[in-house]
Amino acid sequence: MVKHIFVTGGVVSSLGKGLTSAALGLILERRGLRISVQKLDPYINVDPGTMSPFQHGEVYVTDDGAETDLDLGHYERFTHAVLTQSSNYTTGKIYSSVIAKERRGDYLGRTVQVIPHITDAIKDAVHDGAGEDTDVAITEIGGTVGDIESLPFLEAVRQFALEQPSEDVLFVHVTLLPYLRASGEMKTKPTQQSVGKLREIGIQPHILVCRTEQPMSAEMAQKISLFCNVRVEAVIEERDVDFSIYELPVNLVRANIDRLICGHLQLPTEERTDLDDWSRMLEVIREVKDGEVACEIAVVGKYIELHDAYKSIYEALAHAGGANRCRVTVRKVAAEDVLHKGVGALEGVDGILVPGGFGERGVEGKIRAITHAREQNLPFFGICLGLQCAVIEYARNVIGLEGAHTLEHSPHTPHPVISLMAEQEQINDKGGTMRLGAFDCALKEGSRARELYGGDLISERHRHRFEFNNDYRDIFADSGMSLSGHNPERDLVEIVELPEHPFFIGVQFHPEFKSRPLRAHPIFAGFVAAALTHSRGNSHPQLIEELA
Ligand code: GLN
Repeated sequence: MVKHIFVTGGVVSSLGKGLTSAALGLILERRGLRISVQKLDPYINVDPGTMSPFQHGEVYVTDDGAETDLDLGHYERFTHAVLTQSSNYTTGKIYSSVIAKERRGDYLGRTVQVIPHITDAIKDAVHDGAGEDTDVAITEIGGTVGDIESLPFLEAVRQFALEQPSEDVLFVHVTLLPYLRASGEMKTKPTQQSVGKLREIGIQPHILVCRTEQPMSAEMAQKISLFCNVRVEAVIEERDVDFSIYELPVNLVRANIDRLICGHLQLPTEERTDLDDWSRMLEVIREVKDGEVACEIAVVGKYIELHDAYKSIYEALAHAGGANRCRVTVRKVAAEDVLHKGVGALEGVDGILVPGGFGERGVEGKIRAITHAREQNLPFFGICLGLQCAVIEYARNVIGLEGAHTLEHSPHTPHPVISLMAEQEQINDKGGTMRLGAFDCALKEGSRARELYGGDLISERHRHRFEFNNDYRDIFADSGMSLSGHNPERDLVEIVELPEHPFFIGVQFHPEFKSRPLRAHPIFAGFVAAALTHSRGNSHPQLIEELA
């Protein structure tokens, strides 16, 4: 029998419910349990695929090609859960399935209503997300308790709990204890009110995870316990982390959340939550954070104002820093600034990363940054649109194909080096029409990619419409740019690199989605290693000067 944990959030959004859910997943895995993690999002979009990153941060992609909320990235970085299309449901996705059933006549003439039809579909989604062979299924409910949109989800999980034995369902409510600087106190009223809202709906939380800036006193925990009807030992402090989000599971275990959960759900588990390797990883992060060894990477993108827009990339760079025992400082550079103000913004960096993106804005600035990296022997890593820009740059400035471009932005270019490959040409709808999810990539012998991966066949996740144009393969093969990875099934170029350059790699896929804190992604690790070498080289001339 699968046990269920539902995680809700109160008071404000961005409380870190996603991180808390991911941390709970890790904690239970480290007790020897098999877990699944899922997110229910109250917005109407069918999936976040068509949303601007400014709205909702990055779109995270699973192996089976689901375009999902970025919280699923946390789930995968913290746990071994295999996330799928069933790991993220939105109001739009639920309603679409109910409306499709209604159109097929499946409701046999009945009036279709929120209760029971929408709530039934939500309950089915919860069962789907749990999958098979799972001991504990964690379901995070997006939004804030009290929002109109999240009501059907809360109602559905209330019903869900009613239908299960009480020891099989646990409600965790993540809430905020705001600190008022002027009076120097933390306030419990917003928490009381949000728990009150939940109880009105019929949900009594079993555990309260209280986000705080300051330590929560025993008296405060007592007060929250009394007013919220939650046992005092289940009022858990979740203080802001010191130096890394990966501290969270350790802090929660210190607060005894593992025992509380396993006790309530009557789970037969290991005696102890084994976080030894996790704690060692944290030690490394702490050491490199304060250490001398460092390199600086410029991320040249379109959405750099919003950290969440490139979340997985920043995380992957941090993992690669740990693997290289060095601090990675990220300089966020707006691609348009490189175009309008020149490469001054890139002065002194040890590597340039151009991430994926959609739309024309910023493309020429990215190309300009890539010219700089190529000419100055600066380590370069291009991801998806980053690869496409590197191919355009090389075509224009090295091979001499004047006006080379991508068909995405220049339908009449004389040299569409990036274009739609045969079977995609009919596509013009904007939703769900991309090459999505995991595809194999064969690596060329002797290439840097093969050396980094340490194997000849890999699988990586995709999210794009356009591809390297195979008509230009021979021209590139005769040039200095090596096409070092290809998809064997559909014969598509996956990786380009410049063998003569200290580090210059572009990939058509999104390696950032597969990087883990305990297992940095090989290309990110190689890129940071090259940047570190560059940073040492940077200080070299000074050293010679000093010695002289
Ligand atoms: N816009 C490009 C394409 O659709 C690149 C997409 C991306 O970077 N994810 O092919």
